[in-house]
Amino acid sequence: MGYAEVSVNSPVAQHRAFSYAIPSGLSIDVGQAVWVPFGDKLLQGVVLELTRYPAVEETREIAGIIEPRPILSPSRALLARWLSEHYLSPLFDAVALMLPPGFERRVVTFICSTSREYDVSSLTQEQRYALELVQGQGKVSLGQLEKVLGKKRAQAIISQLVGRGLAARSYELEPVKVRPKVVLCLSLAVKAGEAQQEAAKLRKRGASKQAALLDFLAQQSRTVPLAEARQKINCDKAVADALVNKGLVTIEQIEVRREPISYEGITPSYPLTLTAAQESAFKSIQSSLLQVAKGYTLPAVFLLHGVTGSGKTEVYLQALAEAVKLGKRGIVLVPEIALTPQTIERFASRFPHKVAVLHSKLSLGEQFDEWQRIRNGEFDVVIGSRSAIFAPQPDLGLIVIDEEHEWTYKQQDTPCYHARDVAIKLAELTGAVVVLGSATPDVETFYHAQQGDYHLLCLPERVTPGEGFLPRVEVVDLRDELKAGNRSIFSRSLSEAIAKAVTNRQQVILFLNRRGGATFVQCRNCGFVLRCRRCEVTLTHHLAEDVLVCHRCNYKMPIPQVCPRCLSRRIKFLGIGTQKLEQEAGYTFPQAKLLRWDRDVTKRRHSHQEILGKFRAHEADILIGTQMIAKGLDLPLVTLVGVVSADTALNLPDFRAGERTFQLVSQVAGRAGRGILGGQVIIQTYSPEHYAIQAAAKHDYVLFYDREIAYRRRLRNPPFTRLASLVYIHTNDALCQREAERMKRQLVEEIDSKGIADISVIGPAPAFIHRLRGRFRWQLILRGAEPSAFLSQIPIPRGWAVDIDPLGLV
Ligand code: ADP
Ligand code: ZN
Ligand code: ZN
Repeated sequence: MGYAEVSVNSPVAQHRAFSYAIPSGLSIDVGQAVWVPFGDKLLQGVVLELTRYPAVEETREIAGIIEPRPILSPSRALLARWLSEHYLSPLFDAVALMLPPGFERRVVTFICSTSREYDVSSLTQEQRYALELVQGQGKVSLGQLEKVLGKKRAQAIISQLVGRGLAARSYELEPVKVRPKVVLCLSLAVKAGEAQQEAAKLRKRGASKQAALLDFLAQQSRTVPLAEARQKINCDKAVADALVNKGLVTIEQIEVRREPISYEGITPSYPLTLTAAQESAFKSIQSSLLQVAKGYTLPAVFLLHGVTGSGKTEVYLQALAEAVKLGKRGIVLVPEIALTPQTIERFASRFPHKVAVLHSKLSLGEQFDEWQRIRNGEFDVVIGSRSAIFAPQPDLGLIVIDEEHEWTYKQQDTPCYHARDVAIKLAELTGAVVVLGSATPDVETFYHAQQGDYHLLCLPERVTPGEGFLPRVEVVDLRDELKAGNRSIFSRSLSEAIAKAVTNRQQVILFLNRRGGATFVQCRNCGFVLRCRRCEVTLTHHLAEDVLVCHRCNYKMPIPQVCPRCLSRRIKFLGIGTQKLEQEAGYTFPQAKLLRWDRDVTKRRHSHQEILGKFRAHEADILIGTQMIAKGLDLPLVTLVGVVSADTALNLPDFRAGERTFQLVSQVAGRAGRGILGGQVIIQTYSPEHYAIQAAAKHDYVLFYDREIAYRRRLRNPPFTRLASLVYIHTNDALCQREAERMKRQLVEEIDSKGIADISVIGPAPAFIHRLRGRFRWQLILRGAEPSAFLSQIPIPRGWAVDIDPLGLV
């Protein structure tokens, strides 16, 4: 008899898999979804491993199979284990990441008859009635029987029949409720020639929209979706209705298969002749793909470093085609914000009808369809945001992560995985090559490339001649503005440049990183910012106590009256929001039309595209926004980008603040000058000498990296150590602090008793976001070589949230 290690869908199961016996006659594979008895319930489970011996003495049997086909491949089953171990998350939470959408559905109990002989006279009338019903239909759901017999009676009768071996229960998942998608379509009700004559008449009578639509349909001579016709003719539905009323056009509902990509209007594209730099990068990836396919080497991780427009995407496309040639498939991750029609179109046109798209905004039905089709091997490429790394793509040969430094790749809920680390692990398990691409690689990624863990590939220049230059960057020292008597948020330089651009009918983007707001204190005279002496992170102002606090180690100090460096009294809280900026800009440039783009305005699904469309159509002169606008825009009329305050990012109380600033400023700078008009970038700051700003202004990644890595080494921050954050959350602040202190003592005792030298515990301190939705948060940080391995040995009580390799402010 064999045994299976099963991850069970129950909160009680936590980090463990459970051993179950495989009943004879049942064939079980790794990755299969099964029913298992758990306590007095029957629960869903997924088989992660087959063993000859159980891990415990007493085992129960697997009750049945949910679906004959395994839902996880063996390598994904291993990946689930790794996720749970590395991120300290419940095992089933890790498994659930890879299950088909809608897997966790209600269970429906069915009753079917057995072929056992029986004596009719031994049955009660009710029993006989129920049995006949079941026999008549083959199987009947318990719900159906309950309707007929009443809830209590039905259950009792079924138990009796099952007890006598005359009926058996089986369990099935409730079907996914997927509504078919229908679209309204238009077609001609008359011959094309006649339609054109009618169109001419309509035009004479001044009904030009109707005429245009009719002409369009006559040209197409096919059924056209209403939405497409409306877009092409720029008319509303009333125009179509008018033609329907005249008997010239018919309108009907047509059911369509859900296809998240509309291939309508996408023409196939062909590989471009690569530049020398692209060629050399491509050759390296190609050779690794080949070597792996032949089984000569283990797959490699590549870092493709190149500014926006240097041709990284073309390299991804050709590498994917290469993988496909070798009988493999790929997964491409892009940040959520990059999942724009343009990005998808580039992949879809190179691999027509062979691209699947996965992201959180698809309906459950769309996700379900796409998941099944991916598993069936219908696609060469799966493209999606973070969670697409868990797509059931078979024959994985290549994983591409574009903009690999983006923080959206880190999930903030359990399991707090980072898609890049998951990708590297998955690639190791499946034998796939990984390509990480970025203009501003994550410092940790670049460090691995420098160490030789990853292969570094460089695309030093932009591809297209017109875009061959990078914009001029001017760094404005805000301290000088104040000295010159300018109290406005616009420096003289920036306001002159804005005025000039607007006068010349060009466009401006003003950028403000609102996060962090007025939480830090800075001297407006000399730029000095108050920092923790131990951790060097910016001190955060705590409103309740009116003190400055280090949110890492809890160092506190009162707010000084004068600047500790220059003794100026002009020490104050800085930070303005996008709304305030919009006001000020309106006041300073009354002749300019403004458009604001931040999270408040873009809550709706399509509003990103709408705002962008408006700006592109030059309905506004100045676009004001947060970091969202730093990504993926291509706006030819923009000749000026102003970073209103680089200091809000620079002074976030996070050791990655410098990296963050460099990335943001570099991305923003990359926005300007992509058109033929050329561009200018103006960065306002109180810290013009900071290396992150200096390096970004010079478009020099390596200059930034060298300084940053030295700083990380000196303060023993990642990549030289790893971090784990533990946050305790409770409505009572004092209790929260006490629990955090108790936990620290426990951790320190554990470290001391085991003689572990390389792990330290920092804090406790109030978390940067000390209070969230009425609950307080205190934080501990563990720093060491393998904090996750250490923590897995320690029982962590309820109320604690653990984040391994945390990113950002927790
Ligand atoms: P990135 O992904 O680094 O931003 P892209 O691959 O999007 O760069 O390339 C930028 C532009 O240059 C695109 O319009 C692309 O079509 C074009 N391009 C890329 N590679 C080549 C090439 N080898 N020859 C001609 N044009 C290219
Ligand atoms: Zn000062
Ligand atoms: Zn500190």
